[in-house]
Amino acid sequence: MHTVERNENVHPHFKGVLNIFETIANCTNPVFVGTRCKCNNVEVGSYDNQVELPAPQHIIEWAEKVNFSLGGDRKTVCVDRCLEKEIKALWEMGIVTTGCCCGHGKVPPYIGVTPEHVLKMKSLGYSLCLELSGYDFAPMSI
Ligand SMILES: [Zn+2]
Repeated sequence: MHTVERNENVHPHFKGVLNIFETIANCTNPVFVGTRCKCNNVEVGSYDNQVELPAPQHIIEWAEKVNFSLGGDRKTVCVDRCLEKEIKALWEMGIVTTGCCCGHGKVPPYIGVTPEHVLKMKSLGYSLCLELSGYDFAPMSI
């Protein structure tokens, strides 16, 4: 059993994300098993190796709808550097990503999207890991 240190003093959305790390670590879905990012010395759940990106308009609108703070007034999203290009590409297609992690070489990576973008992700060729929340996909760039 892989355990993940958690910080309980986080937004409910990120509590969900932290739970996902644990689920991913124990996931046996063949899509995920063996998929690992090449990055090194970054702890799972940490914010090392992240880039802070300006949130596009459709992400700002989603965040307002679910009352999620995008870096306070900065309206930014922090993304693992390893997934930056892929997340930007998904944003350009109008997809609302709800969270992502490259897995830091320790656990399989994932990209989460809102329910209304699940079909679009599938049409792009992404594989869903059904053992997770149902809206989490294996990144293609890792
Ligand atoms: Zn990485």
